[in-house]
Amino acid sequence: MVDRATTSATAGDPVLSLTAVTKRFGDVVATVDLSLDVVAGEVLVIIGPSGCGKTTLLRLVAGVETPDAGRIELQGRTVYGPDGVVPPEKRSVGLVPQDYALFPHMTVAANVGFGLTRRDRRDRAERVSEVLELVQLADLAERYPHELSGGEQQRIALARSLAPDPALILFDEPFSNLDQALRSDVRSETRRIIEASGTTAIFVTHDQEEAFSLAHRVAVMLDGSIHQIGASSDVYLRPASRRVAEFLGDANFLPGRIHNGYVKCELGTLPVLADFDGPADVMVRAENLQISLSEGVPAEVVSGEFYGHDQVTVVRTSTGRMFRIRSLVNLDVSPGQQVRIKVGGDVVAYPADN
Ligand code: ATP
Repeated sequence: MVDRATTSATAGDPVLSLTAVTKRFGDVVATVDLSLDVVAGEVLVIIGPSGCGKTTLLRLVAGVETPDAGRIELQGRTVYGPDGVVPPEKRSVGLVPQDYALFPHMTVAANVGFGLTRRDRRDRAERVSEVLELVQLADLAERYPHELSGGEQQRIALARSLAPDPALILFDEPFSNLDQALRSDVRSETRRIIEASGTTAIFVTHDQEEAFSLAHRVAVMLDGSIHQIGASSDVYLRPASRRVAEFLGDANFLPGRIHNGYVKCELGTLPVLADFDGPADVMVRAENLQISLSEGVPAEVVSGEFYGHDQVTVVRTSTGRMFRIRSLVNLDVSPGQQVRIKVGGDVVAYPADN
């Protein structure tokens, strides 16, 4: 096993700090005024839609792209700022690319030892077997990458980036090449390995399930900046803005008016998580609406989507507004049928002009 003490920082210390980092490619602004702290031992997942600047952010931290403005600090040392730039190889940052980038003509052991050139041979071999043990693939040391499954290749790529004992490892959509069945196993295994190694990690993904299941904290990135950062449940249940709510999960919006912690809207007068009074944009998650034949506001079934583990029913109320309702029960309703809907969970609201 790798000794936790071999990792450099103490839990709670910032390993990475970005302050007002901006990066443009011609007219395209990839990151704008982006600030972010990542603490030692943390697994931070940055989630955002395609093109929001996630890969660029990782590349700026790794040092393979240079910002136009701002400051980047790693372990308290400025690696980009007014005083100069520290090159990628001196940053103690590992990057696991989407395609793993294993060398096909090298064995697993040679791949894992690749970044350890400055150690003597015995020390190097020891470190290689140490990290191969950590990823539980010691018996594959002499194989070549094409003799490994996708999940094994991913773990070897992880072992290679862990070998030099970096302060921070960056993962760019590391599970996107794995089929769905394998993904959740490899994900939890990866998190186990990261936690066992004591290293700090940043993942970027556009996959919500991946983000929530991996992260100690999730950061929502939209248009080049971080819009919200927090525990998975906070970000999901209390999105900071309508845009964050729309990006994460199935959200229904409807107009309402808030007074003293209650919102009046077409679904009734409901307790609401909001700290203002007046016109509001009310958000109800699809799984927080309930459908039945007897309770709530009348609605007509428009369509249904069956997902196996759950189902979504789309209904239209008398105002013409459509609602998506996600339910676990096997509800037997068909288009045109009259039903009733009611709120059965948290309701969040934003000022109407948000
Ligand atoms: P995806 O999830 O699709 O990989 P992303 O969130 O990682 O997207 P980036 O790859 O960081 O997004 O790209 C952010 C923006 O910067 C995009 O509009 C992209 O086209 C642009 N961009 C990135 N790299 C370059 C480059 N080398 N030259 C010009 N434009 C670039």
